[in-house]
Amino acid sequence: MKFTDFNLKETIQAAVTEAGFKEPSPVQKEAIPLVLEGHDMIAQAQTGTGKTAAFGLPIMSMMKADGSVEGLVIVPTRELAMQVSDELYRFGKLSGLKTATVYGGTAYGKQIERIRQASIIVATPGRLQDLLMSGKIKLNPKFVVLDEADEMLDMGFLDEIKNIFTFLPKERQTLMFSATMPKAIRKLAEEILENPKTVSITKSESTNSKITQYYYVVQERERDDALVRLIDYKNPDKCIIFCRMKKEVDRLVAHLTAQGFKVSGLHGDMEQKQREVTIRAFKQGGVDIFVATDVAARGLDVNDVTHVFNYHIPFDSESYVHRIGRTGRGGKSGEAITLVSPNELRTIKRIEKDVGAKLVTQVIPTRIEVQN
Ligand code: ADP
Ligand code: MG
Repeated sequence: MKFTDFNLKETIQAAVTEAGFKEPSPVQKEAIPLVLEGHDMIAQAQTGTGKTAAFGLPIMSMMKADGSVEGLVIVPTRELAMQVSDELYRFGKLSGLKTATVYGGTAYGKQIERIRQASIIVATPGRLQDLLMSGKIKLNPKFVVLDEADEMLDMGFLDEIKNIFTFLPKERQTLMFSATMPKAIRKLAEEILENPKTVSITKSESTNSKITQYYYVVQERERDDALVRLIDYKNPDKCIIFCRMKKEVDRLVAHLTAQGFKVSGLHGDMEQKQREVTIRAFKQGGVDIFVATDVAARGLDVNDVTHVFNYHIPFDSESYVHRIGRTGRGGKSGEAITLVSPNELRTIKRIEKDVGAKLVTQVIPTRIEVQN
């Protein structure tokens, strides 16, 4: 199957070609035709599987570029807002579709000006709710997308989202995208979608097959040595190490820095500015290793992450899916490496069952193996 099979508008098809996309991803194959037929939809697919294009291409293909805001995309974080709008800009520019990005922490004036000129706005819930409630903007979009819906609920935006929908027209096409499908998401879907089609790319297709998943059994006192040895052995270009707690992040950053790695920590207490500087350094290669908590890594979208390490196995399968989805993006391959203690082996079995993939067990390489 090719992108040309979808009958997208000519200028949108040209943008896909220009972006270098050869073949639609599984979620794109299923979602694009349904969206073009006008259905509401709830779609589940793992991070990095091309969900932005799965909604962006078909809705933009149906837009008229008539100067009104035809599409509204709601995303959980400012970083995601910027990423999604960059991607949508690429798809829409040949069609004369302008994108505006709307998030908190900046002045209203310019944002409102941009919204006036845009066909699509990409917004975080807080600022969007502000603008709507204060009457600074009125929207009448034909297409409304909730992107990364599970993260949005995890971050506590449920009330904002429900409130935002009271300002939107009843006559609309609504799409929801999520990496996981917990009960709260299904409940929200019932409230805001009408006769939705369901797309679910789960199991082996969802745990991106480009990601090879390993686990290593370690004793508690060997954990740090095992981690360092595995980093030396795997020699990642860019990697993210996930921890459970902020104080573990600080400790590991110190430990790895002392070993000579270019490493930086990312945790929830960081100021937005500091966070952005750190993320930019990681993207540009000044930092090779990110040590992060689950919360801090929400919405973090960095291409070219070659390895994800779970310093501790995450508590639940959903975090596991989110974590490992930070690698293997855009059709590239990646490795996910989990350290487990012997009494956590049951958790591995449960994760394997939940994600429908097999984790390969290996032994920590010896010092000699690392040197070679
Ligand atoms: P998700 O929203 O599922 O996490 P994204 O939409 O952010 O994934 O896409 C991840 C990366 O893959 C982006 O860099 C995007 O440009 C790229 N991508 C998306 N679809 C394709 C495709 N069909 N072929 C090649 N690359 C793609
Ligand atoms: Mg996405």
